[in-house]
Amino acid sequence: MADLIFMGPPGAGKGTQAARAATERGLAHIATGDMLRAAVRDGTELGLKAKEIMARGDLVPDEVIIGMFRDRLAEPDTEAGFVLDGFPRTLAQAEALDDTLTGIERSIDCVPVFDIDLESLVGRLSGRRVCRAAEHVYHLQFNPPRQEGICDIDGSELYQREDDRPEVIRNRYQKQWVEAAAPVLDYYEGRKLVVFIDASAPRDVVAREIDDILDRFDSA
Ligand code: ADP
Ligand code: AMP
Repeated sequence: MADLIFMGPPGAGKGTQAARAATERGLAHIATGDMLRAAVRDGTELGLKAKEIMARGDLVPDEVIIGMFRDRLAEPDTEAGFVLDGFPRTLAQAEALDDTLTGIERSIDCVPVFDIDLESLVGRLSGRRVCRAAEHVYHLQFNPPRQEGICDIDGSELYQREDDRPEVIRNRYQKQWVEAAAPVLDYYEGRKLVVFIDASAPRDVVAREIDDILDRFDSA
């Protein structure tokens, strides 16, 4: 069993690798962004609160995210281990995560950090398309669907996220990665949990790096 956090700027490839690794290893993939977009789509109270904040590329308030995460962690599929994708994004979230895990005698095993430059991120995010039904991720150039505009897995329509526009991408990078994430990175570096991954490499190369990390825990 392994409990991991995939950290990195928006568009670094965390979701792509987390979905694959979680399926292959039987881990729960917990992506707070996917959960929020589902809430927006369903028009829930949480979704109404989050919609505008997300469209601007700002962070949803910590207490909302922490409550949502705790509910998700209580689901049985997390018992075999999890990959956190997009959470924690602030120091307050990281501390709340630690408290919650301590309470159930668990702790984070490793924090792979997806390292990549801003220009590559703009290219990845502006070509990203996701499916309406389940947030499966594609890229117009790097990972196109078999049929244009249609998800290979569930046949739903592909769309471009509102926050994947160039001006919002830069806001997300600055506020979410350069500013909010810096103390989170320090926090996990201080605990010697961080492993840097070259996220600018092609998908299968990044996958091998992630698999090497996960192998350590499978054989432990
Ligand atoms: P994140 O979850 O970190 O925001 P995604 O996994 O959604 O990032 O990836 C962002 C975009 O880049 C998607 O369109 C995805 O298909 C594409 N992508 C992911 N990994 C790679 C890679 N190694 N090389 C090229 N494109 C990639
Ligand atoms: P993502 O799909 O991870 O790129 O997240 C999309 C958006 O959801 C972010 O830009 C934030 O507005 C919001 N969000 C997702 N996760 C968090 C989090 N842990 N803390 C605050 N906001 C979040």
